[in-house]
Amino acid sequence: MTGIALPATDELRTRARAALERVGVTVAEGNGLRARTPVTGEDLFGLAATGPAGTEDALAAASAAFLEWRTTPAPRRGELVRRLGELLRDHKEDLADLITVEAGKIRTEALGEVQEMVDICDFAVGLSRQLYGRTIASERPGHRLAETWHPLGVVGVISAFNFPAAVWSWNTAVALACGDTVVWKPSELTPLISLACDRLLARAADDVGAPRDVHRLLLGDHAVGERLVDDPRVALVSATGSTRMGREVGPRVAARFGRSLLELGGNNAAVVAPSADLDLAVQGIVFAAVGTAGQRCTTLRRLIVHRDIADTLVGRLTAAYRKLPVGDPFDPATLVGPLISARALEAMHGALDRVRGEGGEVLAGGARRPAPSAPHAAYVEPAVVRVARQTDVVREETFAPLLYVMTYDTFDAAIALHNDVPQGLSSSIFTRDQQEAERFLSAEGSDCGIANVNIGTSGAEIGGAFGGEKETGGGRESGSDAWRAYMRSATNTINYSSRLSLAQNVSFL
Ligand code: NAD
Repeated sequence: MTGIALPATDELRTRARAALERVGVTVAEGNGLRARTPVTGEDLFGLAATGPAGTEDALAAASAAFLEWRTTPAPRRGELVRRLGELLRDHKEDLADLITVEAGKIRTEALGEVQEMVDICDFAVGLSRQLYGRTIASERPGHRLAETWHPLGVVGVISAFNFPAAVWSWNTAVALACGDTVVWKPSELTPLISLACDRLLARAADDVGAPRDVHRLLLGDHAVGERLVDDPRVALVSATGSTRMGREVGPRVAARFGRSLLELGGNNAAVVAPSADLDLAVQGIVFAAVGTAGQRCTTLRRLIVHRDIADTLVGRLTAAYRKLPVGDPFDPATLVGPLISARALEAMHGALDRVRGEGGEVLAGGARRPAPSAPHAAYVEPAVVRVARQTDVVREETFAPLLYVMTYDTFDAAIALHNDVPQGLSSSIFTRDQQEAERFLSAEGSDCGIANVNIGTSGAEIGGAFGGEKETGGGRESGSDAWRAYMRSATNTINYSSRLSLAQNVSFL
């Protein structure tokens, strides 16, 4: 097997610097944090991390800016988001370069992530004129009952490495339109793209005359995130990452009666019924299981296939897997880029060892693909494993391209298997049977926040609310009415009569 050819780290460093310069970022080099690329597994630059004083300064500034921003009319707030969207469009290629350098996404997926940012800005601009409250029929004569929505405060955004920019934009575009200010702690693995996003937002603020401190960036590891989590000035902590992280963050925010919005791990499955269009299913499954090298929260990790079609489907899948081009994510022919780190590869190999020990059969992939020029890079062939049962390892999220295949005989058994995991993010069914499709989407079907028919588990549009149940954390972000999490509501009773009438006919005095 020939090794993977990769660009030199120097070339990637130059590419990242050029993109940052075009965006307007001057990198403050330091020792607190290493910017790194999974493309070669090597360091790019040292950066200054944000210390306690910097965090305090950011929180004080964002709290002060909130006092001005909350009374700025919402459509004017939308102008800031519109300008941000324009700058994101202008710098789409630069941002995609940084995403590929730092997160290892292939080009089309990196560009797709930036497109998602543009889309959420468009959505939030519209939202800035649609922060609707309801008018409610009052039981009393001469009274009006209404619900109003007000800005919430400072929103602390903590984000993961695998959507290093889009998750920020989902939160920030909506929060800004809602009248909140934002303090962002991105993943320590992706500081460069966050510097670029922060700079573009600062430029947008200058262009429209908004306060600069509507957004502040904190660079560093979980310790910096913990300061956001514990600070009572942060009204909402929106945290995206592993369930392990959510287990720490959720109770800490709750202990100070703050709000949290948790977007955590998934263990997403697709049911493939005997009536499924297998051409469509194979395409949908391969993209969902292998896209972003299996490092999406919505990655397809479990396939639940009717026994009658299992051998045929598995045969077609393994044939497709053997042809997957693994390698340099900047090469347009590549479909599978690197894992984020050697540790991620170890976790994948650990899961493969466990499942083999339980009798699982590896049908395709799993081998490391060496890159002679980059011994620390972690490239792997996506794996398909047939398992007889849904054991503990199958019920865990292994953040790598590892697809477990199980079979079912009855539709009830398929649903039971589907829901029998701790996570509840995304799900899908491939079927041409309408009753099955509807049952899958019904209250007795998938227990996930996302349930699809004849399309895979990943690749959501921004118009819908995004999030999941159970150990995925319960939060909803992005479209639909997810904006309500970023605002507080007040119920108003207005008496426009000259009599005081008490509710429930209570008489007093
Ligand atoms: P991670 O949990 O290691 O880190 C995520 C972020 O949390 C980082 O910024 C990290 O510094 C911070 N953090 C960690 N511990 C913290 C603590 N105690 N207090 C405050 N901040 C803390 O996750 P990762 O490896 O970067 O990302 C992969 C995980 O994220 C996967 O489990 C994936 O499913 C999940 N994810 C979920 C969604 C979603 O929307 N549900 C989206 C993307 C990723």
